[in-house]
Amino acid sequence: MSLYKGSCHCGSIQFEVEFSLTKTVTCNCSICSKTGAAYTSVQDDKLQITEGKDQLSLYQFGSKTAKHYFCEQCGIHPFLRPRISPELWAVNLRCIEGLDVNDYPSKMFDGVNWEQTVEAWIKHK
Ligand SMILES: [Zn+2]
Repeated sequence: MSLYKGSCHCGSIQFEVEFSLTKTVTCNCSICSKTGAAYTSVQDDKLQITEGKDQLSLYQFGSKTAKHYFCEQCGIHPFLRPRISPELWAVNLRCIEGLDVNDYPSKMFDGVNWEQTVEAWIKHK
């Protein structure tokens, strides 16, 4: 595991996160297809928000299980609590310093067909 630093665009939100990356996950659901984020998921205690907690806004829709956090100032979504496992963090790898998501293979999570995908995803994880 390596420790990475991440931030939103304006820098109001700063965080540190630990992970070891073998692939990135993208998703075609209604929000991810618009943000264009690439993710990895980490346990709750692997992500620390070091600055700007009070600048985070929460966006929820649909089942309102997932928690999409975004910066009030610049609108970037640095991390979220994913619907598939809301106890984890899904980190937007495009917000990580010194990491190029193009250096890693990418796996597509078929969020449009969420229920079916989750069944298959959990089996083959
Ligand atoms: Zn910001």
